[in-house]
Amino acid sequence: MPENILIAIAWPYANAEIHVGNLTGSHLPGDIVARYHRLKGNKVLMVSGTDSHGTPVTIRADAEGKPVEEVYKKFHDSFLEVFQGYGITYDLFTSTHTENHFKVSQAIFLALKENGFMFTQKSMQWYSPSAEKFLPDRYVEGTCYICGFEGARSDQCDNCGNVLEPEKLLNPKAKTGDGALELRETEHFYLDLSKLEPEVKMFLRERQSYWRDTVIGESLRKIEAEGLKPRPITRDLDWGIPVPVEGWTEAGKRIYVWFEAVIGYLSAAIEWASVSGMPEAWREWWVNPAARQFYFIGKDNIFFHTSLWPAQLMGAGKEFLKIFDEGDEPLSLPYDVPANQFMNLEGHKISGSRNWAVWGRDALTRYDPDALRYYLTVNMPEMKDSDWDWAEFVARNNNELVANWGNLANRVLSFCYKHWDGHVPELDPVDLRPADLELLSVIDGGFESVGSLLEGVKLRAALGEAMKLATAVNQYLDSMAPWKQIKEDKAEAGKTIYTALKAIDSLKVLFASFLPFTSERLHSFFGYEKPLFGEQYVEEISDELGTHTGLKYRGIDEFQWKPSELKPGQALNPPEPLFKKLDESVIEDERARLGK
Ligand SMILES: [Zn+2]
Repeated sequence: MPENILIAIAWPYANAEIHVGNLTGSHLPGDIVARYHRLKGNKVLMVSGTDSHGTPVTIRADAEGKPVEEVYKKFHDSFLEVFQGYGITYDLFTSTHTENHFKVSQAIFLALKENGFMFTQKSMQWYSPSAEKFLPDRYVEGTCYICGFEGARSDQCDNCGNVLEPEKLLNPKAKTGDGALELRETEHFYLDLSKLEPEVKMFLRERQSYWRDTVIGESLRKIEAEGLKPRPITRDLDWGIPVPVEGWTEAGKRIYVWFEAVIGYLSAAIEWASVSGMPEAWREWWVNPAARQFYFIGKDNIFFHTSLWPAQLMGAGKEFLKIFDEGDEPLSLPYDVPANQFMNLEGHKISGSRNWAVWGRDALTRYDPDALRYYLTVNMPEMKDSDWDWAEFVARNNNELVANWGNLANRVLSFCYKHWDGHVPELDPVDLRPADLELLSVIDGGFESVGSLLEGVKLRAALGEAMKLATAVNQYLDSMAPWKQIKEDKAEAGKTIYTALKAIDSLKVLFASFLPFTSERLHSFFGYEKPLFGEQYVEEISDELGTHTGLKYRGIDEFQWKPSELKPGQALNPPEPLFKKLDESVIEDERARLGK
């Protein structure tokens, strides 16, 4: 029975380009797991989108003196380019600024209100008399009253990591514009998370045994130590989703971005179903206790996805479907949140503003996507922060990707193509020797060993295991030496080459989730007609808010996660090298670009 697997990936803010840290943090691991489940024949839905709301986006627009729509669309288009370039196969990558997302977010809001999990409360907020408006969170900077850091935002200190009470900020200053600030009273809706605390703890304890310890530390252990406190879910802003309560939007208030962005995982599934002409299909991943939901995020987002988002879903309960559509079932809850730590660059934190970054789009102009995907996977910050190092990038590309795997595939295919006239050697598989059968059984075992590591989202280990199997094929070839065998006995050499080809054909599938572009090419060299994966394309979607572009994926339904069934005598296509060896000069060239 195919399983329903939801791959939910953190929504990037529309205020900066995507760099390698973003890719390895969430988009790439999500894509690898999605591709694996597709190869297994499971029903995968992979969604995300551009986070178009919130102060990071409005501040960027203010700084550039442009309308917010223009700014978020510019970044959204560049995200679509990056994801196509790296083969990040979203079934739908949309935006939070859609009629559908507004409607779904408002229904969750109203369901929580109806179920008694909300209250309103007055608080003091920084107000700019010259701009005649409240300045929320990131618009105000000052000195942290906990650690004394001078560049703290009014709602959060990036130095000590604490959430701050805005009115306690010392020396407040407006981030844009000038003039004195004063505290004025404002009213907001709060999500009463304390009422949901017992359910959230139970949800986390049920998952504790298989979640990453770093994730449990930032969720269950944090709640056990500090409790779940009410949080505001509206803001004084004029850009964002209207508050579905009379008078609130008119008073200049919008739904707080933290509250609505996570709802995007649900709304994007609903939008995908609608634009795919199967309006009810989203329920297979969202109103289905057997569906498994995986959330791919960075460590700064753990609490939102492990604790607040489940609280929203549990609090909305059966009420959501009653308000939104029809039915009275609760929504599905996250199965796993394999959050990653951060990737640094040459020993320092990645910083977009100082150009201390390897940008996703720029890197693709000089390197092939699979070379980048390879390094981003072997170096993925799964348990602790990792470091992008250009010398290591070149070394691992040349010594592992090219020397161990690429040369193996190219050497065997070229040798076969030349000596067997473009065909897999003709033989009866019962004539294979014990050494041949032993190698094939080791490689077949990879579908279990690599598969179970992928299943548990241990991607570095999974790729390492596949690479180890490639080494085993190289060792087999070294001991059989078919280039000598062919001079003495072509039939014996044919058995060796057939065995190696079959092993490479299986390895191609084991590598495919990590290295989809080259695996697809290799697949075509073998002469297969049907591809391993489907295609990405961009679609324009229109609604009452206007037109937005969505990145989509046209999949193929086939179970390909199985050992090679390569037929003796099969016609091959002319092989070419899969990867490029990089010159050492790359290291200094790339280092010279940093920080300029
Ligand atoms: Zn601080």
